[in-house]
Amino acid sequence: MEPLQQLTRKQLDTLQRVGRLATADRGVPLKQLARALRVRSPTALGHLTILESLHLVRRHRGKTRLTRYGAACLEEYVRHHRVAETLFAEAGLSPEDSCEAAREVDLAISHRTVDSLCQAESHPKVCPHGAPISPCRPARGGG
Ligand SMILES: [Zn+2]
Ligand SMILES: [Zn+2]
Repeated sequence: MEPLQQLTRKQLDTLQRVGRLATADRGVPLKQLARALRVRSPTALGHLTILESLHLVRRHRGKTRLTRYGAACLEEYVRHHRVAETLFAEAGLSPEDSCEAAREVDLAISHRTVDSLCQAESHPKVCPHGAPISPCRPARGGG
């Protein structure tokens, strides 16, 4: 299973927060992260423990930052979301409803499925909100 498929929505929210709050040379302290997520510290720590076990974040002296792999997974998540949004928009949903519908599936679908959808949509450059969609990567595994 791909890492995104193993995450709950709350774990993804936590990963995105770490990405926003941590800088290249400074991790985000647990308390600050918990406050931003509006949860108690033990709850935030629970999410971080899972993210760390998937190698998406690294913790050092109580501060957390993304690993390179975690940053790549976040980018991949955004692509999943925007490709799914485009599909729902083409089916006639408003941009807001497309976003909501995309959140129901964007963690569950595989990279392969996202690439198939992207191809079926003729590789859209932007989502219904006008935000850029990163291009399909070259075919993997020689097939
Ligand atoms: Zn594409
Ligand atoms: Zn969008």
